[in-house]
Amino acid sequence: MSNREKIFIFRGNEILVEAGTDRVVTEKPVLLDDGAISDYLDEKAHVPPALYSIAVCSDTPAPEGTEWRLVRRMLAVTPEPVLQPMLKALALFHWRLTVQFCGKCGAPTEDKSDEIARICKTCGFVTFPRLSPAILAVIRKDNQILLASNAKFTTGVFSLVAGYLEVGENFEECVRREVREEVGVEIDNITYVASQPWPFPDALMVGFEATWKSGEIKPDGVEILEAGWFGPDNHPPLPPPGSLSRKLIDRAFKKLSK
Ligand SMILES: [Zn+2]
Repeated sequence: MSNREKIFIFRGNEILVEAGTDRVVTEKPVLLDDGAISDYLDEKAHVPPALYSIAVCSDTPAPEGTEWRLVRRMLAVTPEPVLQPMLKALALFHWRLTVQFCGKCGAPTEDKSDEIARICKTCGFVTFPRLSPAILAVIRKDNQILLASNAKFTTGVFSLVAGYLEVGENFEECVRREVREEVGVEIDNITYVASQPWPFPDALMVGFEATWKSGEIKPDGVEILEAGWFGPDNHPPLPPPGSLSRKLIDRAFKKLSK
C-alpha cells in the first residue's frame, strides 16, 4: 500500500483502532471477515489522498489486537495527517448509504469516475456529497461568555449556542437567529473564527464570536434547558477536547484570562 492510500474501518460511528492505543487501523486486518463488508469506497480516482472506507455490520466483533472506538473519542488524539482523511472517509461512508438510488427517478446509481459523486444509470442525475452547515457562537459579555446546557446533552456539560443554517440564510443571520431563539439575547460584532468537518453524519461546524448587545438570558426550554454567563475560573463541565466548541471555549477563556 502506498502512503497515499488509507483504509478506515467503520462500524456505525465507531472506528477500528489498535487495542489499548489511540492508533487507528489503516490496513485491512487479515482476520476481518470479507462477508461482513457491506460497503467499499474506492476513491483511487480522487487523489490525494486515496481513501478506502470499509463498513461492517453492527454486530461484527473486532479482530484480535483491535477494538472499536467511537470516532468522536478519536478527534483529540488522532494526528492531523490521519484525522483529516478519517473524517472525510466517514462523511463519504455516511453519504453513500443514502444515495444508492436516484432521488429523481429511483433507479440505481453508481460512482462517477471523474469526481466524488453518484450518477444515475437511467436519467443521468448527479448527486454530490451533502454538507449541512451549522454554526457555533461564542457570545461575550464583559469578562464572561454564554454557555448553555442542551436538552440532548446527557453528560451535564455546558457548551455554545449552536444550530443549523436554514435555506436562504447567511451565516450572520443564522447566528443572530439561533442566539435569539435559544437564549433570547441580541448580539453584535459577529466575526468568523474557525470551522471543523463534523461527519455525524454530514455537518460542517462553523464557529463565530459575537458580543452581547441587549436582553436577559431566557432559555427556550426546548433545546436549551439552562444557560448563563461564565468566566475562565468559574464554569460548568465543558465538552470533551477535540470538538470545535471546546476549542472555541478554550480560546475565549484564554483571551479573557489575559
Ligand atoms: Zn435517475
